[in-house]
Amino acid sequence: MRKNIIAGNWKMNTTLPEGLALAKGLNEALKGKTPNCDVVIGTPFTHLASIAAAIDTTKIGVAAENCADQEKGAYTGEVSAAMVASTGAKYVILGHSERRAYYHETAEILKTKVGLALANGLTPIFCIGEVLEEREAGTHFEVVDGQIKDSLFELSPADFGKIVLAYEPVWAIGTGKTATSDQAEEMHAHIRATLAAKFGNQLADDCTILYGGSMNAGNAKELVSKPNVDGGLIGGASLSVENFMPIIEAFDK
Ligand code: PEP
Repeated sequence: MRKNIIAGNWKMNTTLPEGLALAKGLNEALKGKTPNCDVVIGTPFTHLASIAAAIDTTKIGVAAENCADQEKGAYTGEVSAAMVASTGAKYVILGHSERRAYYHETAEILKTKVGLALANGLTPIFCIGEVLEEREAGTHFEVVDGQIKDSLFELSPADFGKIVLAYEPVWAIGTGKTATSDQAEEMHAHIRATLAAKFGNQLADDCTILYGGSMNAGNAKELVSKPNVDGGLIGGASLSVENFMPIIEAFDK
């Protein structure tokens, strides 16, 4: 059975004291509750160790938002997957559209990062998604298939089974313009079919596929009601407990 996950992506927001307060606030809000989904927060590298030490990591998983494409050594300013894992983080967000667009992360670089993340026991939350021009040209299925194939299809089935996917149409990220639940469901079902053709029905069925793009308290329930939408990767609305909790509660019956 695949997991439902609600994951926050704080991006380059919050100082360490602000991030700690946010994480502790979420930890407090979840006390005594058993959400019907796993909860993850993706924080800047500088916050990972302090946050992992300050919260109940059996209830809230901690994610880095990136890791290096090298194992170790003379790569000034980089943070390796081993370093991320040593903080207590259990996840790493890879292939976010902002990293692909602004930091020129190619499919090949991402393939290497995924391998290093897995080798260090981290669960990659691997982001895929088309830009507006691709959706308007009707090439969105092809684009997303290409992103999956080029970075993940050389994984063994066992390693592929450890990946979480996040479909994030780039035109919906930070724009307030959410994909409709039907658009999300259509793409997620397509992705599952692509995975089934490569890895078989069981692995495809077990793969958690998150939706990301202006998900919020108002639209989360409708999105996660779709059979192939297993949760969300949330940017803006993960930056306050008040906005994030109702998204977690979208899985409540
Ligand atoms: C994201 O950055 O992954 C994201 C989905 O952002 P937002 O929720 O702000 O659109």
